[in-house]
Amino acid sequence: MRLYRILRGMHECSVLAVFWLYVVLFVLAFASIFVFPPVALLIFFAALALLPLLLLSCRIVRWSRHASARGVMGGGRCPACGQRIPGDPGLAVRWRCESCDTCFLPGGVEEPRQMVQSHA
Ligand SMILES: [Zn+2]
Repeated sequence: MRLYRILRGMHECSVLAVFWLYVVLFVLAFASIFVFPPVALLIFFAALALLPLLLLSCRIVRWSRHASARGVMGGGRCPACGQRIPGDPGLAVRWRCESCDTCFLPGGVEEPRQMVQSHA
């Protein structure tokens, strides 16, 4: 359960971290155009070469998160809060924890929470 929480945090932060890394690289490359243009090309090609590795690492973290959730659910507990699950969640198409209101699919995929729409 602790591993799942760590992996969930890493997965949620990894996409934003990649975005900000590329924003910083863009700013550095743009600033270096006026100082020493070959550095801008170097940063561009380094960022281009780094992209598949970052995407692969994000997928590995996501896969590990789902595998960890499946393992915790197989042990009869909610991966998000650790409460005991009544029944067998592995057979359910969609399972919602009554304690923390988190929804899981059988593959360990955590569904995003439903947005409550206000009609005010
Ligand atoms: Zn829960």
